[in-house]
Amino acid sequence: MAALDAALTTCRACPRLVAWRELVATEKRAAFADETYWGRPVPGLGPADAPLVVVGLAPAAHGANRTGRMFTGDRSGDFLFAGLYDLGLVNQPASRSVDDGLTLHGVRMTAPVHCAPPANKPTPDERHTCAHWLAAEFTLMMPTMRSIVALGAIGWAAALQALRDSGWQIARPAPKFGHGTEVRLVSPRDRSVRLFGCYHPSQQNTFTGRLTPAMLTEVFGRAAQAAGL
Ligand code: SF4
Repeated sequence: MAALDAALTTCRACPRLVAWRELVATEKRAAFADETYWGRPVPGLGPADAPLVVVGLAPAAHGANRTGRMFTGDRSGDFLFAGLYDLGLVNQPASRSVDDGLTLHGVRMTAPVHCAPPANKPTPDERHTCAHWLAAEFTLMMPTMRSIVALGAIGWAAALQALRDSGWQIARPAPKFGHGTEVRLVSPRDRSVRLFGCYHPSQQNTFTGRLTPAMLTEVFGRAAQAAGL
């Protein structure tokens, strides 16, 4: 996994996203003017043998694109890590920087698009171009992976595609995303993984009450139990 993560951080396959991540890293937000932005693809975070995998959307321009750590440096991440902490899945309630001592317990966090997109919206072509990274990550995690939480419909579709790309036969039409939805997927070798849907902890969802802390921990609690955590 370390080799995969290292290779990922040099990827320049999406011209629009490469230009955006580097422009943001140069111009910076005033509040972070004295920081050096990461400005590169953000690799997955957490142990390679984690039984629970979280699939988000993409790094935030001034969040993970700044700190270089998945879900770190923005309010979405704050909301998510607080929920994981409540469930004992991480050793501290917030993730601030790559050297803050954070340790995930049995959880790996990743994304279907590893570079910050303008307006947080990757194009279908960019999602397609980045998909092989998630498939490779899933392949490495397959021996221990027991459950997946997809944060939003894009993460859900990407997780299903990554399983397909790893040789799993996913029924068509594919199961649909919904908050709280749980699907059991079975591999040709009779291994099973449970896929859970959870609204993305974006401010659009958390500020409006569409996603509450209780809703998030309810889904993650079930996913953790299914993963044996
Ligand atoms: Fe590479 Fe993915 Fe970033 Fe595109 S989004 S440049 S495929 S890492």
